[in-house]
Amino acid sequence: MARIISVANQKGGVGKTTTTVNLGACLAYFGKKILLVDIDAQGNATSGLGVRKSDVEKDIYDILVNETLVKDVVLPSSRENLWVVPATIQLAGAEIELTSQMARESRLKQALEKVKDDYDYILIDCPPSLGHLTINAFTASDSILIPVQCEYYALEGLSQLLNTVRLVQKHFNPELKIEGVLLTMLDARTNLGYEVVDEVKKYFRERVYKTIIPRNIRLSEAPSHGLSIIDYDARSRGAEVYLELAKEVLANG
Ligand code: ADP
Ligand code: MG
Repeated sequence: MARIISVANQKGGVGKTTTTVNLGACLAYFGKKILLVDIDAQGNATSGLGVRKSDVEKDIYDILVNETLVKDVVLPSSRENLWVVPATIQLAGAEIELTSQMARESRLKQALEKVKDDYDYILIDCPPSLGHLTINAFTASDSILIPVQCEYYALEGLSQLLNTVRLVQKHFNPELKIEGVLLTMLDARTNLGYEVVDEVKKYFRERVYKTIIPRNIRLSEAPSHGLSIIDYDARSRGAEVYLELAKEVLANG
């Protein structure tokens, strides 16, 4: 049965999509069957794995709002063993439409329950907000992986995120856990980056992954080719670190 992990942080540009795509690809590389669920209307995880908009007939919006089955939406990606539930701009309306719907916070959970046995991991790429879509992701998940960018104000907003986790635990999903905190985009040339690493480690302690993701230009180039980092440049530092992260996630069970 799949372990379901949300990759979430309501800040934009912290490495959520990069992490979901490349962690997913690396877990697939290690022989696991992976489903990546894109719940961001920007659809960056979708296009980043080579799924073309013209090939998308139904998307995550149909699952959440029209109760379309996951199996009727899933598409193959550019990486073997990795499948995608795509998102398109259609999803932009879902946040408002869900407000008036019954059982709105458990739509994704209900949908994923039917395919849980078909995968080893289901990774959810969350949008940069704490609205209904993210609540759906947290309600459906076993755990949350939080990317934190090694930048000024890295910890800002995290108390809000943890509050949302507590609310979901209280009302919808008591088993929800923090999978881990991932430091991203470390610039090895500056002291600031390392100061942030220390600060985040002080706060989250053993929940911080040993693997730290450095800034790596290849990681930012790969999506425009529709490829994960291991398919774009397997010898890059980016590929190396995401393979390390995948090993840590596998070691967590
Ligand atoms: P989010 O999903 O949190 O908004 P993204 O994963 O889309 O963040 O990353 C934001 C931008 O930074 C993207 O252009 C991405 O290619 C780039 N990026 C992410 N991680 C790295 C990294 N480790 N090194 C260099 N660029 C990165
Ligand atoms: Mg994103």
